[in-house]
Amino acid sequence: MPGPLKTEAIVLRSIRYGEADRILHLYTPDYGRLSAIAKGARRSRSRFGARLEPFFHVRAVLHEGRSDLLTVTGVDTVAGHGRLREHAATLDAAARACDAVSRLFETADPHPEVFRLLANELGLLHTDAAHGRPGNGLAFRLKLLLAAGIVPQLAACAVCGETEHLRGFSGAAGGVVCTACEAASFSLSEEAYRFLVAALGSPLSEAPDGPELILRQVERAIGEITEHHAHVRLRPLLAA
Ligand SMILES: [Zn+2]
Repeated sequence: MPGPLKTEAIVLRSIRYGEADRILHLYTPDYGRLSAIAKGARRSRSRFGARLEPFFHVRAVLHEGRSDLLTVTGVDTVAGHGRLREHAATLDAAARACDAVSRLFETADPHPEVFRLLANELGLLHTDAAHGRPGNGLAFRLKLLLAAGIVPQLAACAVCGETEHLRGFSGAAGGVVCTACEAASFSLSEEAYRFLVAALGSPLSEAPDGPELILRQVERAIGEITEHHAHVRLRPLLAA
């Protein structure tokens, strides 16, 4: 990497390191997930101020150092998303969103759409605490899966192609399954099916909602397909 790297970034994690430093996990539009060190970031007179806390959307200048870690040399705030820290639900939703991005997109492969999706999610959580509800979090995960190239098949049985009698969901098969193919599936209600279709088809700001029973089926569908096809286990979103 010749010269400094200037990039937008979202702070996924900020870990205390040594006496006064921070190790950061950053998500960037063009360089995927990066790790960097911000030296002296925890000193009270640090030039970075509070701009390297989780959920900050920043413009950063990064230099290649002697280790694998990049060194942060400059940072400007694009959006601090301060109000999402005022409510437990939005703070938790933001942490889970960053965690899901971190697990599903842990490499330096560029996924600008994932960056935009995460920036959008944090912006919504900051703007209106109502977006901290689980329906929004599930819709966010579905859109992340889509960005990872994992699209749950919803239009026809994922095993045989049948378009009627779609009663189950199979993570292994990759989507809904018909009554004849439902051996390894769990039963998916009509409402949960409609949630999946609506969440994938509408903007995040208009994510559908539903009773907890339905959201649990949706979460199970997302969890199973993620484990089977991305080999990643996401933190539970709905309390057990
Ligand atoms: Zn079938």
